[in-house]
Amino acid sequence: MPEKLSSQLEEYLPREMLKLVRDAGEKANKLGQELYLVGGVVRDMFLRRANFDLDLVVEGDAIKLAQELIKGSQAKLTVHSRFGTAKISYANFNLDLATARRETYRRPGALPTVQPGRLTDDLCRRDFSINAMALCLTPQRFGELIDLYNGRDDLNQQLIRILHLNSFIDDATRILRALRYEQRLNFELETKTAELLRHDIDMLDTISGDRIRHELELILKENYPERVLKRAEELGILNKLHPSLKGNGWLSERFDYARRLHKQTSLSPLYLCLLIYNLSDTENEQFLSRFNFPKRLAQTMRHTLQLKASLHNLDSPQLKPSDIYQLLRSYTTQAIQANALASQSSIVTRNLQLYLAKLRYIKPLLNGDDLKRMGISTGPQLGQLLDVLHKARLNNEVKTRKQEEKLVSSWNQTL
Ligand code: ATP
Ligand code: MG
Repeated sequence: MPEKLSSQLEEYLPREMLKLVRDAGEKANKLGQELYLVGGVVRDMFLRRANFDLDLVVEGDAIKLAQELIKGSQAKLTVHSRFGTAKISYANFNLDLATARRETYRRPGALPTVQPGRLTDDLCRRDFSINAMALCLTPQRFGELIDLYNGRDDLNQQLIRILHLNSFIDDATRILRALRYEQRLNFELETKTAELLRHDIDMLDTISGDRIRHELELILKENYPERVLKRAEELGILNKLHPSLKGNGWLSERFDYARRLHKQTSLSPLYLCLLIYNLSDTENEQFLSRFNFPKRLAQTMRHTLQLKASLHNLDSPQLKPSDIYQLLRSYTTQAIQANALASQSSIVTRNLQLYLAKLRYIKPLLNGDDLKRMGISTGPQLGQLLDVLHKARLNNEVKTRKQEEKLVSSWNQTL
């Protein structure tokens, strides 16, 4: 008799989601299809960790089921017919629906060829036993656990285990995924998994830059990415990404500091700037092109190193605010933040922080239109005059609108 976990699932899922997955199970049943909750959410239910990214697998047609599900609701449906998948976006969460599939790898690292299949086919292509469990959602079997790879035992023993000996060869991104779960959950790699992982590290060379970058992005979204990076360095994996990258204590301290200082913002770009902080420009360019970083992010990473090379200009307590502004105005905020976190000099850090907290927001009270109204004609001098006002304001030489107007008049007379 398979184990029924309906009450555990009922306790775990917020009421609204529970209603939804029950409804989905009933609709699938009417279509003559079996429906399952799979992957991370099943793992996290056992671990009692919040995870409300619902992944559903249907033995049948996911798109047809998704179309049934959204009838009469406000939810938004996105369909990928080529993959037989659908995403439904509700107000507070998403539901991913996939048609159960069978995959074959034509060569290591290639994206797999996909055909419709049964749940068992879908589970056997997954990365680790703890991610390969499913809970049935169709009414008669609601809450039935399908655990073909003993994922539950592995959860209890806190082990990350691959499903078959070729797993890392088929898809070496799993090497990075293994470390991510190991460090997130504070688990260990099962002995054979650890042995094969070390043995197959070179298979990372078969993976496209985009796919590795995606895994790196997932690592940087973890609560403590530095732990994964440190482990990756110990195992000789980080230097596969670039031989000069380090996951050392310096990096850990900076990441920690970044979290304390920047609570609201997304930390990933900042983490990346810190990760490449000790690379040369040339090494950074190699890294950027190997992993095909998007333009804006690449620009921020370049800026970080350019600013680092000119930090000596900021290493003086005598600089006027307008000097600091002038030196920093063309850099992206994150490049400046990264340097504030990484710089060795307290004077530099103070100047960078002054810019970030205050100077970058300071603007004159008068604008171009005001100046025209005061009789300044359009042309280069208008811009110059705005610069003079801006500088005076940064240096606290003018504080009120009146004082700004006075400055404009006196400047105008000298023309
Ligand atoms: P989390 O999002 O909390 O990291 P998750 O389990 O939801 O965990 P995803 O990256 O969202 O992880 O992937 C969803 C599921 O897809 C995983 O549980 C896993 O079973 C499967 N999966 C993802 N990537 C791979 C891969 N490279 N090889 C095999 N299976 C994978
Ligand atoms: Mg997920």
